Amino acid sequence: MMKMIQRIKGTMDILPSETPLWKYIEGVMREEAERYGYGEIRTPTFENTELFVRGVGDTTDVVQKEMYTFADRDENRSISLRPEGTASVVRAIIENGRCSDPLPLKYYYIMSCFRHEKPQAGRSREFFQFGTEMFGSKSPASDATAISLANSVLRRLGLGNVKLHINSIGCKECRPAYREALVNYFKGNIDCLCDTCKTRLEKNPLRLLDCKNPDCHKIAMGAPKTVDHLCEKCNSDFAMLRSALTAMKIDHVVDSSIVRGLDYYTGTVFEFIAEGIGAQSTVCGGGRYDGLVSSLGGPELPGIGFGMGITRLILAMRELGLDKIETPAPSVYIAALGEGAMVKGLEICERLRSLGKYAECDVVGRSLKAQMKYANKKGARYTLIIGESEVESGVAQLRDMESGEQTEVALDSFVI
Ligand code: ATP
Ligand code: MG
Repeated sequence: MMKMIQRIKGTMDILPSETPLWKYIEGVMREEAERYGYGEIRTPTFENTELFVRGVGDTTDVVQKEMYTFADRDENRSISLRPEGTASVVRAIIENGRCSDPLPLKYYYIMSCFRHEKPQAGRSREFFQFGTEMFGSKSPASDATAISLANSVLRRLGLGNVKLHINSIGCKECRPAYREALVNYFKGNIDCLCDTCKTRLEKNPLRLLDCKNPDCHKIAMGAPKTVDHLCEKCNSDFAMLRSALTAMKIDHVVDSSIVRGLDYYTGTVFEFIAEGIGAQSTVCGGGRYDGLVSSLGGPELPGIGFGMGITRLILAMRELGLDKIETPAPSVYIAALGEGAMVKGLEICERLRSLGKYAECDVVGRSLKAQMKYANKKGARYTLIIGESEVESGVAQLRDMESGEQTEVALDSFVI
């Protein structure tokens, strides 16, 4: 036998026994996003590496350690598989001249993203994300809308075990003072930091707050909090967001440890965290990115968005026993014995399908017993058994698979 080729570590096959759940979840996402006025956007799987270096940030883990980057075959340029969706959407709206559309602009997507991380439960190298982006509003009303959309999806999926954590990480105005406080704090603990953090300390101290190294994490827990260093505007925005969430009856906690791992965030950041699904418990993360559009060559256009990981949602749903979705079952399965019966079966199936029914006919030519076993496994509602004599007489037995009852039907006029 030839040696088997295996899938790449950290990727997954999603089989027909699982796709109904995926389709159900994706259907809820699409419906909810569209009820909030978001339109679907699809962007390329790979982009110029520069887009993510500039968009996500050159001192982030995503860009420094996790990106799938390669040289293009025929041109001297570097390409990367998208590690997230926001930078691509921003590029697309600028490139397609959408920034002058009536505001706000609202886009959503369901896409695969790629990151070279250590595979584990809830963390893969190709993962699937539902994301939304809204451009053109600085008001916390838009933050509240984005959070409400994520919340609606989670509620509709029945995830009562997910909790909203919010924080504000400040804007251009409050950042310098906070940055200084942070650098001073970490300098006092520099010997305990990992090498990456040591090099990031001067370049981008905020990144030290989400380092996954346990020693760094311990030190980060005692670091100055962004909420204690907000300017007046950020403070009042955060207060308005909180009162909007309260008015909308969306439970939340303020959590100063939420800083988000990508550079583009400003102001509001948030995560929805699921209990009981292990270490990878953030099912959704997002925030405001007011400088991103202009930094990618577009106009000054503020933005707010989030990304929701579908595999982690499934883990959270499984925890609550909500992951069982029925697979579609045939209305009729035609057991055919012999070539003439098979042709007759195909003819009947064609008619049933043109009427919108789900019908299957045997195409393997196995024994009646084997065919009935298959019909059972597929959960067929009825089975029609056709042999040479049924083809000749034009009548056959239709078996109700639930009651076992049989009725005679005329093959040429049979519908269900
Ligand atoms: P984490 O801190 O868990 O690494 P992140 O901040 O890197 O998450 P984002 O870039 O905000 O994640 O992506 C949005 C969402 O996509 C996450 O909240 C998570 O649900 C999902 N996600 C991110 N990375 C992965 C991955 N490698 N595998 C599966 N899902 C992922
Ligand atoms: Mg990550």
